[in-house]
Amino acid sequence: MDDTDPRRSIPRTDHLLALPEVIAAGESLSQATIKAIISEAQSAARTGEIPVAEVAPTIISRLSSRSASSLTPVLNATGIIVHTNLGRAPLSEPARQAVADAAGYVDVEMDLETGRRSKRGTGAKEALLRACPGAEDALVVNNGAAALLLAVTALRGEGLTGPGEIVISRGELIEIGAGFRLPDLMATTGSRLREVGTTNRTHLDDYAQAITDQTASLLKVHTSNFRVEGFTAAVEISQLRDLADEHELPLIADLGSGLFEPDPYLPEEPDIASALAAGADVVIVSGDKLLGGPQAGLILGRRDAVQTIAKHPLARAMRTDKLTLAALEATVANTQNPVHEALHIDLDRLKTRTDRLAELVSGTVVAHDGRVGGGGAPGVPLPGWAVELPEALARVLRLGDPGVVARVHQGRCLVDLRCVPEADDDRIVEAVNRAREKTQDSLGDGDVSFDDDPDFTNHD
Ligand SMILES: *Cc1c(COP(=O)(O)O)cnc(C)c1O
Repeated sequence: MDDTDPRRSIPRTDHLLALPEVIAAGESLSQATIKAIISEAQSAARTGEIPVAEVAPTIISRLSSRSASSLTPVLNATGIIVHTNLGRAPLSEPARQAVADAAGYVDVEMDLETGRRSKRGTGAKEALLRACPGAEDALVVNNGAAALLLAVTALRGEGLTGPGEIVISRGELIEIGAGFRLPDLMATTGSRLREVGTTNRTHLDDYAQAITDQTASLLKVHTSNFRVEGFTAAVEISQLRDLADEHELPLIADLGSGLFEPDPYLPEEPDIASALAAGADVVIVSGDKLLGGPQAGLILGRRDAVQTIAKHPLARAMRTDKLTLAALEATVANTQNPVHEALHIDLDRLKTRTDRLAELVSGTVVAHDGRVGGGGAPGVPLPGWAVELPEALARVLRLGDPGVVARVHQGRCLVDLRCVPEADDDRIVEAVNRAREKTQDSLGDGDVSFDDDPDFTNHD
């Protein structure tokens, strides 16, 4: 950089901190946040991303338009309902309201009648038990993985000195995404996995043969993110029940997704009612997959088993916060939520909306299958439509306001309205038309081409 380089004249931090707008922002924003915004603008000028004259205006505009957190709300136009990268289930209106209500002081552990301490999470638990009449008791923890760890650990009986083998089929040793493997997770509890059967076929006798005085529990895990087809065999929960009774062992079923009852749209997806009726002592599901609620791990089943789990010291370390309890209770008390609606969408209506969008943005309607995504039902297509646009629009749409996340596939940008609330259709139209105008000047500039959203193939 020579002396005439304008980048030499990037305003200094003390000068920028003294701007009246920056001082005013300091009344509510922390100094660390303000300094980070200043430093970002200075680096942008250093790398030539913005002209030096734009440093101060950029800071002032960032300070005034700054949202409360760095999480940016987006419209999900991918057609993937439980999109792991977009926060899985979007909450229903009642659940959002419940979160807002619980954000301040709430009677989460107080009986307002007596003024004394009460049990945390009673409302959520009662709502869950109403939704799952087959369960005698319920416990809510942070997520499905925590629920599984806790159940396996607590049901070992005499603790670490007791028997520590968990019998599980080789066909169910799953990796749940982002590199997390259930076998590794279980190993952290000091338990040993006693793998039985083969990748594609496991029989009741395989379980029976593996049971010794070291066996702590039988575990059935739903293969929620892949399918084995062809020459396959698996053992049903009802068959394992008899074996568990014979040896007085707990039977744990990790179902992954949280369907309360069978859903005709997803015939292969297990549900809580059926798993409990088949004889699982406890079932484990996530709150933010097909259940459509907040991140949570639900443990439902026999009272003695759930009580044993709830009393384990680890349960305290996995305790959910009041916001989660509020959102979960509101989700469970209602039959409708955005996940349910997207799954059971009226196809005629979806087609009409897609045709209208295509017309208003000069795109082409193409057949497009949505997916359940990280919530389960691997490989099950949800037939529908999308509006096809040039691939270069995808990045501009993501970075727009509102951000619109479309699917990038085989060199195309596909806008699927399945997971977009109908009330937001016009925002999509405006976003696409604005993105089109923008890309007119710099078509394809800087766009990174990638194929396929990982959630289409790799459910988390
Ligand atoms: C998703 C899933 C988990 C993990 O649940 P989280 O709520 O993501 O922690 C565990 N087991 C199965 C079968 C799953 O599908």
